[in-house]
Amino acid sequence: MRIAELILAEADHEPPGRKAVQLFETAPQRVMRVAPGPNGSGSPPQMLLCDFHIHSNYSDGKLSVPEIVDFYGERGFDCICITDHLADPGRLLGKLAELANCTLGQEQVGEYFAVIERERQRAWRRYQMLVMTGVEFNKDGYTRKTSAHLLGIDLQAPVDPSLDIPEIIEKIHKQGALAVASHPHIMKSEWGKNTLYLWENQEKFAPLLDAWEIANRNNIFNDIGLKRLPFIANSDFHKPRHIYSWKTLIHCERDAEAIKDCIRRNEHVAITLYRDFVGAVPGPGRHGFDSPPAALPYFQDRLPLHAINS
Ligand code: ZN
Ligand code: ZN
Repeated sequence: MRIAELILAEADHEPPGRKAVQLFETAPQRVMRVAPGPNGSGSPPQMLLCDFHIHSNYSDGKLSVPEIVDFYGERGFDCICITDHLADPGRLLGKLAELANCTLGQEQVGEYFAVIERERQRAWRRYQMLVMTGVEFNKDGYTRKTSAHLLGIDLQAPVDPSLDIPEIIEKIHKQGALAVASHPHIMKSEWGKNTLYLWENQEKFAPLLDAWEIANRNNIFNDIGLKRLPFIANSDFHKPRHIYSWKTLIHCERDAEAIKDCIRRNEHVAITLYRDFVGAVPGPGRHGFDSPPAALPYFQDRLPLHAINS
């Protein structure tokens, strides 16, 4: 089989919604992929269960990328984005975090993109789940007012974390990816600081950003709803018990471009506090959000409440 045929054969197994021709930077070589157009699936709109803020063991998460794919795939999620921390190497705290293996190392970024790309294809074949590559850019200052965490969602190639925030947002947008403000504050167990910079400069950043986290794990930030800013809700997943947390629901076709479009336009987006369902059946939509209420007998917490809330 010639290379062009091989590429096209591969494309049959691609998730829909990717660009027709995509250049993907991997170290050391460049790989060209051909995939169906933005509306490749032609699937009807459904309520899609999504989580766009997930950490793997490439930064400070507990699970590997394949373990995350299986964890979410088995629960019937429709779309996830893996967003490991990437620190600004120009900031002392960023350097220290990288040394402590709390963030992606600069030399790991190519491998990180390649591994998620491989898992994206497997997730689609096995679970019909969309997997996006993301990064959480950490701009850690010495005070909470100078610290910011910024999500790049559905990146096609790495972005230099030492650029300033408006430049990073511009690079994210050039790739067709989303730039989203992470939580204004964070659990004490992970990063010691509140991350208020974007939130305290909302007038400056609202026109630049695609959305804000209206909810992060167990916390909900009413401010975003009151101001009618575009929103998403995420786990900020670091370990399995973090699955019991706020999530985004999007009513659209199972397609990365359609999902991003809904978020940008702030249409057909809702949030839900996630619990596992008893009697779930394998396959897409088994989370039950697109089923009639009678199909949802009751909620089940697989972990005791004290473990979930601690
Ligand atoms: Zn964060
Ligand atoms: Zn995070």
